[in-house]
Amino acid sequence: MIDLKKLTIKKAQDGLRNKEFTSLELTNAYIEEIKKTNENINAYLEIFEDAIDQAKKADEIISKGESKTLTGVPLAIKDNLLFKDHKAGASSKILEGYFSTYDAKVIETLKEEGAVIIGRTNMDEFAMGSSTETSAYGITKNPKAPHTVAGGSSGGSAATVAGDMALFSLGSDTGGSIRQPAGFCGIVGLKPTYGTISRSGLMAMGSSLDIIGPFTKSVEDAEIVFNTLAKEDAKDSTCVLEKDRICEKKEVKKIGVPRSFLKGEGINKETLENFEKSLDKLRGLGYEIVDIDIPLMEYSLAVYYVLMPAEVSTNLSRFDGIRYGLSISGKDVAESYKKTKEAGFGKEAKRRILLGTYVLSHGYYDAYYNKAVKLRHKITEEMKKVFNEVDLIATPTTPSPAFAPGAKASPLEMYLSDIFTVPANITGVPAISIPAGNSSEGLPLDIQFMAPHFGEKLLFEVGKKFEVK
Ligand code: GLN
Repeated sequence: MIDLKKLTIKKAQDGLRNKEFTSLELTNAYIEEIKKTNENINAYLEIFEDAIDQAKKADEIISKGESKTLTGVPLAIKDNLLFKDHKAGASSKILEGYFSTYDAKVIETLKEEGAVIIGRTNMDEFAMGSSTETSAYGITKNPKAPHTVAGGSSGGSAATVAGDMALFSLGSDTGGSIRQPAGFCGIVGLKPTYGTISRSGLMAMGSSLDIIGPFTKSVEDAEIVFNTLAKEDAKDSTCVLEKDRICEKKEVKKIGVPRSFLKGEGINKETLENFEKSLDKLRGLGYEIVDIDIPLMEYSLAVYYVLMPAEVSTNLSRFDGIRYGLSISGKDVAESYKKTKEAGFGKEAKRRILLGTYVLSHGYYDAYYNKAVKLRHKITEEMKKVFNEVDLIATPTTPSPAFAPGAKASPLEMYLSDIFTVPANITGVPAISIPAGNSSEGLPLDIQFMAPHFGEKLLFEVGKKFEVK
């Protein structure tokens, strides 16, 4: 019997190479676990029919001694990643019945590696949300506390790892969608520097913010997946050339805490107390903790909720019933568009399309969109300056532990879940969420570290020391 609970990518690599188990046995062990757990948790939307064949192929590679880093390692992918000839739907009705026509760059890499892609996972519709409540396919429950949500938008991907239904998984992070669910589910979630992992084949939400990243059980595993996937790619013009991925900083001594940013309303008391404990732990590890000030950081959420819907309204215009998925015909093309979008998009998608169209419309463009673009640059400048003083920035990942479905009564309350995660997206810096103990009710708590652009190594260095008990 393979102990899935204790398994990490690192241990699986050893187990596979030393012939303690085959990839087929490992994949079957996950499928057994999925059969037991998924009905209640709703992490997977589909288990791919060819998962077993992929595992058999991986075993052949291993037996020939041609193993690569992720050969034979079973993983799950978010439903917004294209895997050729497999369904992909971004958990939206508008993409019902859609099959991917090509492989995302990350899928291409995983295939070259001989990894085993078990299935696709539930998410908020088109990655808009913080709880999977906007999915057309139901809510994903938190495996660590099933009366709460797994977070979002990549809630399904987080739950596969937290519930031992995959060894790692991929999600996407536009405003926090990897880090927040990782925090809620008590696992590691990495949002890499914008432009390090190709977005080719990721369904676009906010193209200037989106990035793919891993959910894992350890920081070391996050590092392994990141190093494997962070390749340059001509198909994504925003993907940075590897030679240009430079971070001058080589080690971490000082960690900055943006104190004024932690005083906002709606931040849970226990979350803050626990964060102080985490800071003590970091002091104990020899790091100097200093207060920093990023005065404009508090506008990050406002900036995000102008820029992101603007990009969403543009990106989602391609789902018109002609090219992809659902198609409801009307008396002419315009009516077909209307009918398809009316039936295919959920409430939150419609809200953001409207908001985005509004901020981009003539007369409001300068007042909203352009102002937000300017502020984005200012916040980025402030952040860069702070990284001259400190090596990393620490905050909690989430302002509260996981909540129950329905607990966030208004969209605005839900949007506040992103308060700590959004700054990394609008500035493009890398950030990681790491488990940091439990609340008095036994819910997972978290800490987030942000590093300068291309400073993932610094996150891994501190993360590995922090996560050791
Ligand atoms: N929760 C955020 C939102 O609803 C973040 C989404 C994401 O990162 N995809 O926009």
